[in-house]
Amino acid sequence: MSHDPHCIFCKIVAGQIPSKKVYEDEELLAFHDIRPHAPIHFLIIPKLHVPSLWEVGPEHQALLGRMLTLAPRLAQEQGAGNGFKTLINTGADGGQEVYHLHVHILGGPRPWRTG
Ligand code: ADP
Repeated sequence: MSHDPHCIFCKIVAGQIPSKKVYEDEELLAFHDIRPHAPIHFLIIPKLHVPSLWEVGPEHQALLGRMLTLAPRLAQEQGAGNGFKTLINTGADGGQEVYHLHVHILGGPRPWRTG
């Protein structure tokens, strides 16, 4: 499924739910997390509905590469030039709550902790 009408991040991609956009191209979207765990906290997602890393296959390698390649550039632009944390939660025990693949990017002056 390339788009899940019940998925909150698909709704953000479609513009049905507002977001504070950080970046957008044909395949990727980045936006600020609504409940930030650090002074800088945004998410990079594919526009394609991939629920989690469990569903990733060889056909997604380029997409995943682009997501991670984008991370340092956007982190720098958002003010996390002193370093940042990347986080991908997968499945229930991984703490995943939204089942649309996303990379958390967290940064800014410490102290801050991620759960
Ligand atoms: P966790 O909540 O444990 O971090 P996930 O890794 O699935 O689980 O992360 C989902 C993230 O999506 C959360 O950080 C949450 O604050 C964020 N989020 C949920 N809804 C929205 C939204 N409408 N806009 C921006 N961020 C959102």
